[in-house]
Amino acid sequence: MNPCPKFKESTWDRYNRDLMPAELVCFNPSCRTRYPITEVIYNCPRCGALLEAVYPPAPDPGHLKKLWRERRMNNTPLDQSGVWRYREFIPFLDSIDVVVSLREGNTPVLNAPKAAAYGGLKRLAFKHQGFNPTGSFKDNGMTCGVSQGVRLGMKRVACVSTGNTSASMAAYASAAGLDPIIFIPHGNISYGKLAQALEYGARTLQVEANFDQILALVRTLAERTGIYLLNSMNPFRIEGQTTIMVELMDQRDWRAPDWVVLPGGNLGNTSAFGKGLRQMLKMGLIERSPRLAVIQAEGSAPFYNLMQTEARDTLTAVKHPETLATAIRIGDPVSWPKALHEVTTSGGVVEKVTEQEIADAKALIGACGIGCEPASAATLAGIRKLTAAGVIDRDADVVAVLTGNVLKDPDYIYRYHTGQLKAPNGTQIRPAFGNQPLVVPNDPERIEALLADNTRES
Ligand SMILES: *Cc1c(COP(=O)(O)O)cnc(C)c1O
Repeated sequence: MNPCPKFKESTWDRYNRDLMPAELVCFNPSCRTRYPITEVIYNCPRCGALLEAVYPPAPDPGHLKKLWRERRMNNTPLDQSGVWRYREFIPFLDSIDVVVSLREGNTPVLNAPKAAAYGGLKRLAFKHQGFNPTGSFKDNGMTCGVSQGVRLGMKRVACVSTGNTSASMAAYASAAGLDPIIFIPHGNISYGKLAQALEYGARTLQVEANFDQILALVRTLAERTGIYLLNSMNPFRIEGQTTIMVELMDQRDWRAPDWVVLPGGNLGNTSAFGKGLRQMLKMGLIERSPRLAVIQAEGSAPFYNLMQTEARDTLTAVKHPETLATAIRIGDPVSWPKALHEVTTSGGVVEKVTEQEIADAKALIGACGIGCEPASAATLAGIRKLTAAGVIDRDADVVAVLTGNVLKDPDYIYRYHTGQLKAPNGTQIRPAFGNQPLVVPNDPERIEALLADNTRES
C-alpha cells in the first residue's frame, strides 16, 4: 500500500523523537486553542475558525540547507519528492511509513524574457506548478492531506470539487489504496479535470444541490461514516503547499525575490506561501520575505474588494462569481482570514484583472513556450497592471507562480486562437495573440509562398 520504502537514519526521526510534537492551533488570535495533531477536525471546535499546524523549534538552518541539497542526489522516493525532501519543514507525521508520494513538486523555475517585457519588467521567472503529477499545485498539498488520512487510519477520503482538487485527490487516494469519493454539484461540470478524477478511479457523486449545501452534506457524512475530508480547509494540504516556497528558495540558493505573484481563489495557496515564508524567516533560512501579490479575476474578486475596505474585518461573498478561469471562480473563499494575515504581513497587494487581460497574458505565456491554464495567467496580467501603476518596480526581481498545466483547458485555448472565446457576460474576447490554424491546398508552391510571409513574426 505504501509506495515509499522506509527511510532509515533520517534526521526526521531524530527530530520528532527529541522535541515536542506538532499541534493544531486555532488561527483566530483571540482563541488560539491547541489540539493534538491527530484530532480529526477541520475547524476549531470552540470558535469555528481555521486551524493551522505549528511545530517546535527547528534544527540549524545551515544543516537543513545542506541536508536538503544532498537529498536531490538520492534515489529514494521520499527524497525524490519536492515536498518530502523538505520534511523537517513540515514535521506533522510521527512516521514516514504513511507517506504517499507521486514525485510531486520538483517544478522548474523558468526565465521568460518575452513575458517580462509584456509585464513591464526587466526580468521575470515562472515557477511552474503545472509540472506536477496531476498537472497542478494541488499535488503539493494532497500528498500531505492523504498521508495524514492514512496515518489517521481512514479508509475513505472525499472532497467537493469539479476541478484540480478532485483530480489530485483521486490520484493520491488511489495510489495510497484508499477509496476516493468526489461530490459535485449537479449540472456544473468541468470535463477536463473531472476526466482525470474518473481515470484515477474516484467514485463521483452528482448531488442535486449547490456547492455550500453539498459541503454541509459531506461534513455530516464524514462524521457518521468516517470519511476524511480533503477540501480547502484541511490544514495538512496547506502544509504541503508551504514547500512550494521552500523549493523556490532552495532553487534560488536562498536569495528571496522582491515579489511572489500568484492567483487567488479559495486563497489556500496565498495562506500557504505566507506561512512558508514566515516560517523560513523565523528558522533563519532566508533573510527577508518577498512581498505577495495576489491576483483575482474581476468577476470573482471578493478578496480584492475586502482589501479596498477600511476595516478589512468581514469578507462580503460574491454571490454569482464569474470567470472563464474556473480554478479561481470562488465567491466565498474559505481561507481569507489566513490570506489577509499573510498579505498584510508580507507588505503585499491584491489586484484584479479582466477576462481579456487574462486571455492575452495566457497566450503570451504560451508563446514563451511555457503555457499554463487560465487561472495561472492572471499572474502576468496582474504584473502588467501593477508595473504600470508603479506598485511593482521595473527592476524588481519577480517570480510568478503558474498554478496549472496548459492542457487542463484545451477548449479555452482553441476558442481564443480562433476568435470564438466569449467572457461569461457575453463579451467577445479579441485575441491579441491569436494563432489560427490555416487550411491550405495540397500545393508546395502556394504553401512556400504562404510561409515566406513573415508578418506573423513581428
Ligand atoms: C486551486 C487553483 C487555484 C486557486 O488556488 P487557491 O489556493 O484556491 O487560491 C489557482 N489556479 C489553479 C490552477 C488551481 O488549481
